[in-house]
Amino acid sequence: MALSRSRKEVRHELEDRGAKHTDNDRDSLADCSRTTGEAVRLLFGEKAEAGTISCVLNLSFIPYPVVFLSIWLKMWYNKEKRGGSTVQLKYHMLTIEDLVPVGHFLRKLEAVLDLSFVYEETAGLYSRKYGRPPIDPVVLVKYLLVGYLYGIPSERQIEQRIQTDVALRWYLGIDLLERVPDHSTISQLRRRKPAFRKVFRRLFERVVNQCIEEGLVSGRLVLTDSTHVKANASRASEEQIEMPESPGAYWKRLDTYEEEGLEELKRRTGKRREKRTRQIKKDSRRTKKRVSRTDPEAGHMKRPGKPQGQYYLSHQTLDSDHGIIVGLTVTPGDVHDTVPYLNQLETLHQTVIPFAAAAADSAYDFPLAHRELEKLGITFFVRPQAVYDRTQVEFKRDSFSYQSDQDAYLCPQGKTLRLNGLYRSASGLFWQYKAEKADCICCPVRGKCLSEHDRRGARKLEDSYFKPSVQRSRNRQSTDEYRQALKKRQIWCEGTFAAQKWGHNLTRVLRRGLEAAEDHCLLSAVALNLKRMIKCLN
Ligand code: SF4
Repeated sequence: MALSRSRKEVRHELEDRGAKHTDNDRDSLADCSRTTGEAVRLLFGEKAEAGTISCVLNLSFIPYPVVFLSIWLKMWYNKEKRGGSTVQLKYHMLTIEDLVPVGHFLRKLEAVLDLSFVYEETAGLYSRKYGRPPIDPVVLVKYLLVGYLYGIPSERQIEQRIQTDVALRWYLGIDLLERVPDHSTISQLRRRKPAFRKVFRRLFERVVNQCIEEGLVSGRLVLTDSTHVKANASRASEEQIEMPESPGAYWKRLDTYEEEGLEELKRRTGKRREKRTRQIKKDSRRTKKRVSRTDPEAGHMKRPGKPQGQYYLSHQTLDSDHGIIVGLTVTPGDVHDTVPYLNQLETLHQTVIPFAAAAADSAYDFPLAHRELEKLGITFFVRPQAVYDRTQVEFKRDSFSYQSDQDAYLCPQGKTLRLNGLYRSASGLFWQYKAEKADCICCPVRGKCLSEHDRRGARKLEDSYFKPSVQRSRNRQSTDEYRQALKKRQIWCEGTFAAQKWGHNLTRVLRRGLEAAEDHCLLSAVALNLKRMIKCLN
């Protein structure tokens, strides 16, 4: 190889040029020349073009005279090799440390992000006795993190980028000539060691805690929304399956309220319905679902204004001060936004930061949320959901007026609909008001009031059990605070999703399964949080 010459060759060159050195000096020069030549060759040697060539060497371990002589030899060699043509060579004596600008983002990141916790989290995954020396787990985490920070979608591309990007090498602690860990090492680690993934959740939590300590998260107002992330599943692999229908997400919470409601019913009407002993929606009920064979954990999303197909949903809660993402849950794409909402907010409120107010869009406007958040002392700002009266009769609900002194409704004929019972559905709890059958049977306008279904019965109306909480929330609707909160939700949530999709890999998940999707969304959120934190701190 061109520059890896033997001591003998170098000695001959020196003698030819009349260099006056002792044998020992020549041996030493030959050693150093070979080392330097190797470095130069590895960096640029065979690919060097005519013109200025900037070589970057980390040669602090070699005495300067030797280095200069080696460079001179290299220049002479290049000139000879190119048939005596004039080749301008320019060498910079630098270390990798010098190559990363002082204000570079990765320097700031290194200063603020302490990843030492990764060692204790992963200690159990490494054997002290067997196997080859492992790749530093912190390097592995940084390897993935830079992919999300710079929007590099695959591990293969991250590897290629690190090979040529000095700043990334510096951040990962990989020297200029050191080999970058292979992308398959990362893939196999994530595939074979599922326990490694707990690091990502811990990393997210630590960054959030750090933001709280730095005063970037106050908890005055948190904002929630969800965004879709495309799953790695083709629509051609979809098939329709039938599966048992599960009870609603808030079934257990409603159990508690139902018991409370039955007591109240007894107080208001003097009668108490028997405690329900079986589930309303029996397991025998089945529902049809489109499932992908390649990623069965993704969900078929079909929402107005959204793309259709196999997706995951990233449900995120942000603090409104600086847009730091403080809570994140991932579900299949066919799960409604309300399902993870209350659990996410409660966990956040109880374990991360107690917050005073929460804002969300109309998808989160369900009565139980109003009651639960009120119980926690959280003011709820939500865009009201449009209510459609689906009864197939002329006398809609608006035709009936509520009489608070009687706790009853009056119908257009002036008859009274009294509180009759507590009705429970899969997702809600309702007070039921019912007219007297005798009144309805002889009513001249019964055709306008009763549907085919109720033709032989009496008119019924339902009120949500949580109506008082909803009403208190609605009363605040015209205030400036309410409008501001909804505006902030729109700005921060939509802006955050756009930033994550544009620059932090949130468009699609390359790996399969819900856990992989969660890791993906967590790392994307960590990347954005870090950028926002560093921006605020600087
Ligand atoms: S049908 Fe019954 S509830 Fe309806 S208007 Fe007549 S009396 Fe009133």
